Amino acid sequence: MSLGPAIVWFRNDLRVADNPALDAAAKSGRPILPLYVLDETPGLRALGDAQRWWLDGSLRSLTGQLAKLGLRLVLRRGPAASIIQELARATGAGAVFWNRRYDRPGRDRDQTLKADLKAADVAVESFNGSLLSEPWALKTGSGRHYQVFTPFWKALLADAVIEAPLAAPSGPLPTAPAPPSDDLADWRLTPTKPDWAGGLRENWTPGSDSAAALLWNFLSSGLSGYGEGRNRPDLPNTSRLSPHLHWGEISPRQVWRATKIHAAAHPGAEADSMAFLRELGWRDFAHVLLFHADSLVDREIKPEFARFPWRRWPEGLEAWKRGRTGYPIVDAGMRELWHTGWMHNRVRMIVASFLIKDLLADWREGERWFWDTLVDADPANNPASWQWVAGCGADAAPFFRIFNPVLQGEKFDPLGAYVRHWVPELAKLPNDLIHQPWRVNAAQSRVTGFKPGKDYPEPIVDHGEARDAALAALASLKSS
Ligand code: FAD
Repeated sequence: MSLGPAIVWFRNDLRVADNPALDAAAKSGRPILPLYVLDETPGLRALGDAQRWWLDGSLRSLTGQLAKLGLRLVLRRGPAASIIQELARATGAGAVFWNRRYDRPGRDRDQTLKADLKAADVAVESFNGSLLSEPWALKTGSGRHYQVFTPFWKALLADAVIEAPLAAPSGPLPTAPAPPSDDLADWRLTPTKPDWAGGLRENWTPGSDSAAALLWNFLSSGLSGYGEGRNRPDLPNTSRLSPHLHWGEISPRQVWRATKIHAAAHPGAEADSMAFLRELGWRDFAHVLLFHADSLVDREIKPEFARFPWRRWPEGLEAWKRGRTGYPIVDAGMRELWHTGWMHNRVRMIVASFLIKDLLADWREGERWFWDTLVDADPANNPASWQWVAGCGADAAPFFRIFNPVLQGEKFDPLGAYVRHWVPELAKLPNDLIHQPWRVNAAQSRVTGFKPGKDYPEPIVDHGEARDAALAALASLKSS
């Protein structure tokens, strides 16, 4: 008797290697039906525009990878649970496999679907396809989940079993008769009128092949010096793997294994390798927070911050979004984000601190803007990082630690190269003025041709005054 097909439901695991769900389907001996569902039903967070652009490229890449295994990706749009149940009935599927997601609404839906499929005699299995360690696996001595990163990281190193990545199944794989599929172009994931995605296309190629190439390049030329260089937006010392990791075009286990192999073969690379792997640890940690929170995206982990007196100032928020605050390192970051869909980690911290503490804007405003504009916008990393900067998250930077945008610029972009690239109207300023262009005097203005306030905005707030106001707001929270 022939076995009913196995549906492999792809989500943020758009790869064929080290994909436990696909691997299980291949090992089941069933004909395989790969499926991606664009589920835009209320209750799930809608994809941001930059993510939609990425998804289009990533699905094209996955289609090509699956075709090499003899499989055809089926695309459907609508509520995933009913689409999968309908597809299982129509094709006589005997099994459904997927890799897990960790946000509360997603998990709740998966659980219900699992129960419904099982009730209909369809086998269901889910797997860890996107983390080093499941978010419930590591516990503190008192049996709770970790709220502080360093002990979490130590426990991960000591106790987590990080499995070796799985090879891609070898093709051709048995294929199920293909049910009708949507045409990807009909989903209109990429912008047309206007087509604002030129900067994204210049900077990124979605898909596993380019993820593997980035990792290889990083290990051979970016990793050395990562420990220090990772803080410098003017240096190519970080991997830029975040969107590929977010979409699951490469798995953290693959990155972990490749880095370990590299370190073993390159004496002296150990410290930089561990500094890099620690960032993957932060990624896992953010997923622990996501898993254990009812809503990481709109509720502060430290509940007292729910009473924080945020300021509503639409013009300030707009200036921040557009990179017109008058603080060069902030504006460079925001323009990099707008153009490329990505921003360097140090600069993310600076712009987030500026929005929250200099403008006193609610951290959720920044989180939302990042969600819409980042190609790596992630339901765990994004809100966890915003809460971290705002001081209301787990193991967060204290609110009273307020970045001075001039000193941050001078320290981490000492030659002004990053600012000159993204804020070209400042390009002619000397290094000692590039991070504080309002100090350009008349004589310097004649030499450089740069006119403060005309060629580039004056600072929208005075940092010293803004800092005092932020500390007063914090004090009011404590006394209320
Ligand atoms: P690398 O330095 O090469 O690090 C390797 C990988 O580790 C990254 O690709 C990423 O997956 C992970 N990682 C690195 N730093 C962090 C971190 N601080 N927290 C969690 N994981 C990390 N990262 C996202 O992937 N998506 C987001 O939506 C996101 N939003 C952020 C918002 C703010 C306000 C801040 C301060 C940080 C945010 N980050 C986010 C974390 C971090 O900035 C990016 O992961 C990093 O800049 C990606 O660059 P990279 O791949 O070159 O990093």
